[in-house]
Amino acid sequence: MANTTSAAMPSRPRRSNGQWAVDGRAPLNPNEEFKQAGGSPLAVRERIERIYSKRGFDSIPSDDLHGRMRWWGLYTQRAEGIDGHRTGTLGPDELSGRHFMMRVRLDGAALTGEQLGVLAGISRDFARGTADLTDRQNLQFHWVEIESVPEIWRRLESVGLRTVEACGDTPRGFLLSPVAGVAADEIIDPAPMLAEIARRYLGRPELANLPRKFKTAATGHPSLDIAHEINDLSYVGVVHPRLGPGFDLWVAGGLSTSPRLGERLGAFCTEQEGPEVWYAMVRLFRDYGHRRLRNRARLKFLLADWGVEKFRRVLEDEYLGRRLTDGPAPALSVGNPDHIGVHDQKDGRRYVGLAPRVGRLSGEVLAGLADAVEVAGGARVRPTPLQKLVVLDVAPDRVTDLLARVEPLGLTARPGPFRRATMACTGIEYCKFAFVETKAAATALAAELDSRFEGVGIDPPIGLAVNGCPNSCVRIQLADIGLKGQLSRTDGGEGFAYQVHLGGGLATMGRPEAGFGRTVRGLRVTADEVADYVERVVRRYLAGRDGDE
Ligand code: SF4
Repeated sequence: MANTTSAAMPSRPRRSNGQWAVDGRAPLNPNEEFKQAGGSPLAVRERIERIYSKRGFDSIPSDDLHGRMRWWGLYTQRAEGIDGHRTGTLGPDELSGRHFMMRVRLDGAALTGEQLGVLAGISRDFARGTADLTDRQNLQFHWVEIESVPEIWRRLESVGLRTVEACGDTPRGFLLSPVAGVAADEIIDPAPMLAEIARRYLGRPELANLPRKFKTAATGHPSLDIAHEINDLSYVGVVHPRLGPGFDLWVAGGLSTSPRLGERLGAFCTEQEGPEVWYAMVRLFRDYGHRRLRNRARLKFLLADWGVEKFRRVLEDEYLGRRLTDGPAPALSVGNPDHIGVHDQKDGRRYVGLAPRVGRLSGEVLAGLADAVEVAGGARVRPTPLQKLVVLDVAPDRVTDLLARVEPLGLTARPGPFRRATMACTGIEYCKFAFVETKAAATALAAELDSRFEGVGIDPPIGLAVNGCPNSCVRIQLADIGLKGQLSRTDGGEGFAYQVHLGGGLATMGRPEAGFGRTVRGLRVTADEVADYVERVVRRYLAGRDGDE
């Protein structure tokens, strides 16, 4: 029987998503308000240099402190001595201390000895010796005081480095294949294209108020080494049968609390078209991205709403003014995307992938690296999206010398499988969102597991990701074993534990496609139990796997 009731009901008016191109620009939440108030958020730099750095921390108004300063890579870090147990009752702003984390965006830069030396000096002089690599190839300093910021910028910019749009609702730091331009098996070198995008578009006020962050990545390497499925726009090297090498375009991936894998647009772009496509995509996001609810503002929600076909049509009709060429999908990945070990370059030199411990460096390590790369024949260093480092352009007869120099710095080209494949986010040491400590815990866990599995062949390594909260800054859903710190309430009171995700992975090392790990329902593992738990899972997996699974 037909349902006549619903036919007679007036349809409920559709609720606005706060899309500028559809609903107008009236701000619909406090974040949108501060982003529109007082001109571009980028203008905060002038106030930092002229006022705040001279008058001190207390002169910074809240909207700048907790909002606009991010547009220049500055984020207040967690206050010293705050009891972790209070995390459940205090918000991030209340947990803020009087020091800053400063993020330097590297955009895939291959750092010279001079640049490493400048970074080392900043760490030593202004950041209590800290320096961490992130999984977006950025470098983060901690303990930065507002008074030091102009001098840090001066030093960074004197060697071509910067913090502009390193955080905030902006085009964030680009991911680039760590072996771009040097690998013998590269399909296309995306470095010049990304450099051109950065030159043309970074720091432009017209692109500095996006609904949320916008992440870009590019690779031409067959290992698919830039996590292309979790960026807002990824360029993946392919060979078009008629047009030759270029890029397959992937859009709207992202993790956090509503993870979604990016999708192919089915479109091909040449290196020359790359900047124009990027500019079109960012404006599309700016104009059509959702701005009413902040937790539904990433590009992935627009793609979910529109679907790929409409997405591509709007991009072509309204922003590019032409059709994109259809193109092929990337081939199945080959090789390990971490690039650890010694490899041949196409010019006869070598590149050497090194593992720090969960991305943790220091001013001392950066200074030692600066010396080591000079001795290795003027080599350069690129961070990787897996919190590793690759030393490029090493003269073949200097490899042994380089390895001997970096080992005492805590960098190795021969890590155990767990040290090799473990990542950790910032965690409670500095992060206001964290529930648990991560860096030291992950370092100890990897060392313990490498010792327990000594002599057992684990190839490819099993990836561990240790996150301090559900924000997934080191991709908990895409690790073989993801550990997510959280509050744990039991009859005995409140404590902290890890929730476990199992079986995630990117389309790397021959895996046909990315997939999210599954939460192990009801399972909470405490820090004391975690090594035993991971050992049990890994031994069971090794005993039961099929062939080369
Ligand atoms: Fe902080 Fe959470 Fe990100 Fe870790 S995952 S750095 S705790 S926001």
